[in-house]
Amino acid sequence: MTTQETVELFDKYVISNYKRLPRVIVKGEGCWLYDADGNKILDMFPGWAVSGIGHCHPKVVDAIRNQAAELLHIDNTFCSEPQGKLAQLLSERAFGGKCFFCNSGAEANEAALKLARLHTAQQKYKFITFEGSFHGRTFATVTATAQPKYHEGFLPLLPGFIYAPFNDVAALESAFSDEVAAVMVEPIQGEGGINIAAAEFLRAIRCLCDENGAVMILDEVQTGIGRTGKWFAYQHFDVEPDIITMAKALGGGVAIGAMMAKEEIAASLTPGTHASTFGGNCLACAAGIAVIEAIEEDSLLQNAAELGQYAKDKLLELKQKHFIIDSIRGIGLMIGVQLTKPGKEIVDKCLEKGLRINCTNETVLRFMPPMIVTKDQIDQAVDILDAALTESCK
Ligand SMILES: *Cc1c(COP(=O)(O)O)cnc(C)c1O
Repeated sequence: MTTQETVELFDKYVISNYKRLPRVIVKGEGCWLYDADGNKILDMFPGWAVSGIGHCHPKVVDAIRNQAAELLHIDNTFCSEPQGKLAQLLSERAFGGKCFFCNSGAEANEAALKLARLHTAQQKYKFITFEGSFHGRTFATVTATAQPKYHEGFLPLLPGFIYAPFNDVAALESAFSDEVAAVMVEPIQGEGGINIAAAEFLRAIRCLCDENGAVMILDEVQTGIGRTGKWFAYQHFDVEPDIITMAKALGGGVAIGAMMAKEEIAASLTPGTHASTFGGNCLACAAGIAVIEAIEEDSLLQNAAELGQYAKDKLLELKQKHFIIDSIRGIGLMIGVQLTKPGKEIVDKCLEKGLRINCTNETVLRFMPPMIVTKDQIDQAVDILDAALTESCK
């Protein structure tokens, strides 16, 4: 099919809830995308952070092929080896908790919120979340998302949510009470513009949760599975959460989400309280296992840390040249370029020149290369961004 023919199918048959480009991607390989017209794109925002180890990683493709030939899906009436093994691999790389599997980030957060309610004493029902957060699009998670633009048209939202400013310990203290069941926070806000939590802010959340018998939930849907140079971003801070949620990069391109909770909290999720038909599906879990093995075998955590620093240094050089760049921030390969004006035009220009990045919160360019990225590819990306900035500032 031609690009035109595919786009016509979308116009006719697919709901237009996305601002979609009239371009058709037909192949992905590592850091590269190929469209139906034979163009090649350097992808520094792969699948909105889903293809964290690059497109179609050969180890993930093999694992999927092998698992597909054995057993695609078995419901949770039974046990299956991939689900048990993936839970073990994740537990050993975090705080030794137990896992519940689902199919997306929103579902993982939904599970965490339900578990926190189940686990805390009867009087508790409130949740504290933070301005600039993003937790998903289901009713509970869009309510948790403390950004008014995501709430438009959906009022009234779920009761019980309190919004506090991010990185403000005093405001958090005054928002707290013994009615709070849980605090949910991203260690680095992704959609909110790559805002890094202060260590003392995360420690204050930990303390206040302990004092009030509340559960500390970290949303690692975007930060998890190695992007920041550690398995989970909380490991950069001296804090241990009660629950973490993950999704995006976990399946290497296959839909999967997971919630991990400390054993004594996880025990409150008893039979009948929560479930997911596809959750822990053999195919998705086999992909997840392959992602973790690939990260370890190819030392990709180290690559994320080193190349993240390299990319930040290169972007800082650009800042010397382009006054539109205000600052660079991030950890590992999760990098934000704060601009002094809206960045959409720059993102569009980059794509014209064969580079894909993203712009979030109007003025923040998001640069999140796959963990397999090379110095040469970062150089290419920064050169294209350089040219785009020069053109758009004329
Ligand atoms: C993307 C994202 C979500 C939602 O994940 P979905 O898979 O789209 O439901 C939740 N939290 C964070 C931090 C995210 O980046």
